[in-house]
Amino acid sequence: MAKGFKAKDENGITYLQLPLFRRIRHAFCTRQGEEGPLAALGIPPERLLTLRQVHGAEVLVFEENTKAALTYPLPYDAVITDKKRVALGIWTADCLPILMVDPSKKIIAAVHAGWRGIWRGIVQKAVREMEDAFKSSPADILVGIGPGIGPCCYEVREDVVSLFQNSHDSLHQFILEREGRHYLDLGQAAQLELSKAGVPSDNIEAIPLCTACREDLFFSYRRDKKPGRQLSFIMLR
Ligand SMILES: [Zn+2]
Repeated sequence: MAKGFKAKDENGITYLQLPLFRRIRHAFCTRQGEEGPLAALGIPPERLLTLRQVHGAEVLVFEENTKAALTYPLPYDAVITDKKRVALGIWTADCLPILMVDPSKKIIAAVHAGWRGIWRGIVQKAVREMEDAFKSSPADILVGIGPGIGPCCYEVREDVVSLFQNSHDSLHQFILEREGRHYLDLGQAAQLELSKAGVPSDNIEAIPLCTACREDLFFSYRRDKKPGRQLSFIMLR
């Protein structure tokens, strides 16, 4: 089902989309900004919901009574909704932005997944919350994993190595060793978490671009050592 990604150009602003998501409005923006892509997809800035991402594993179910979240970003790392005309957005600069849609139940999710989030189970929790709150079946959920730092560049220290090596979740296999240094493959770790949650691998598309390698397209905290993040978003209409 998955079939790569497309780079779109909106007045010189590049953003990425997945054919997998078909007509669901979404974009993985680049360092060139989010205003153009939001406007191109007809999303007013005040309909964009972002989170105060804290590298945790808490999932916000956005409903009418959590409307304040549109104005005041709340401390969560994932958000799910069945509401239309609310764009769920995730800011990243090396961590993975993960967008999900259940086309049969009309549910969307956006997840911020760095090593802490993955280690804490944010990806599985987001899928489980789609099941619990909206009766989604994992077999129906389509997942797009956006650009993050790749195993080419993501060197990790001993503390991260030992957390992953001792994890009960077989995450140790995503620590790679090269010339005495350790590197983490976040994308593969996220895919394992998704498959444990019951999402078929055919339903998953991962954009194979490394934020640290592709300075032309992306901010990278590792590379730049300064703020600057790209937005990824998804919306039901
Ligand atoms: Zn790289």
